[in-house]
Amino acid sequence: MQDEIISYFLKLVKIDSESGDERQMIDTLKEDLLALGAVGVEDNTMAETKSNAGNLYAYIAGEIDKDPILLCAHVDTVVPGKGVKPRIVGDIIQSDGTTVLGGDDKSGVAEIMIALKRIKEKGIPHAPVEVLFTVSEEIGLLGAKHFDKSRLKSRFGFAFDSHRVEDIMVGAPSQNSFDVVFKGIEAHAGVEPEKGLSAIRLAAEAIAAMPLGRIDYETTCSVGIIKGGEATNIVPNKVIIRGEARSHNTEKLARICAEIESTIQQAIQPYAEKGGKAEITFVREYQAFRIPESSEMVQLAKTALQKLNVNPSVKIGGGGSDANIFNAAGFPMILIGTGMDKVHTVHESIEIAQLKLGTNFIEKLIMEYSEA
Ligand SMILES: [Zn+2]
Repeated sequence: MQDEIISYFLKLVKIDSESGDERQMIDTLKEDLLALGAVGVEDNTMAETKSNAGNLYAYIAGEIDKDPILLCAHVDTVVPGKGVKPRIVGDIIQSDGTTVLGGDDKSGVAEIMIALKRIKEKGIPHAPVEVLFTVSEEIGLLGAKHFDKSRLKSRFGFAFDSHRVEDIMVGAPSQNSFDVVFKGIEAHAGVEPEKGLSAIRLAAEAIAAMPLGRIDYETTCSVGIIKGGEATNIVPNKVIIRGEARSHNTEKLARICAEIESTIQQAIQPYAEKGGKAEITFVREYQAFRIPESSEMVQLAKTALQKLNVNPSVKIGGGGSDANIFNAAGFPMILIGTGMDKVHTVHESIEIAQLKLGTNFIEKLIMEYSEA
């Protein structure tokens, strides 16, 4: 017989839930929570999160009189995530190569759900648990940003949304994104190019001068999108670039963003007289966090892993997750792996052993907290 976590994970990845289209996933989870005796309550954040469903919150009552702990995962996937056809190849689960697998983050969702089911079936007294399934995580952590954290009764939480189960992520960087609009002057490229000013040239010179890639051990910067130009015979008057900078050190992030801005303005300075311009906008996407290794939640996670004979590895990550949003709002949260691999690509996969370990780990974590 196929392990329950495998069949449940396969069921979830077959449900389409690209960001903004989480309705079916949320409805399925409501039903499955109900089967566990918990009522899933959807919040009213659809206008803010651009989703057709709200974040789903559930309170699982416990027999042990303690504050609950929060378990969190996101239900949306990146594109292409429609019509996922998962297949088991040896020890791993992957897609058919035309879509992502959606293990980011349905592995987290499935592991939480099956761990809760096992605890219920075993009938062992446990502390209460709060579960939160967020929407629109992949399009700017919007679900977590707009969820009303004041309704939480837990003192801390765990986001299950990273790679290896043995990795306990106690920190993540801040990220700013930026848009730059380069403005030149349109002209016929063959008849009177001297009347034009190429926005592509402005962008090229600015990008060539910008600090990019790994800036130092805790700071990175990247330009990921460039758009502009209409035809080869037109000197282009507009180019837009989009990029991001991340740092575990908020001051360094501010410094690198100031440097990006001054470098761009300096690079296009020789064209200013002719009308060349660059308009730069920065947006703070999320705030860095660092949780001390001595904290109760890190110790709980370490002990739970050790009891499963797994060596925990406490790390800081390079990505943003719902944990950034909760920590910035004053609610401590660490990030835990689920086994997901090569996420955000059509080569995404998950090791079956990791999927099983992740489920055992969540079960152990709840019991460990209950008994502490
Ligand atoms: Zn994720």
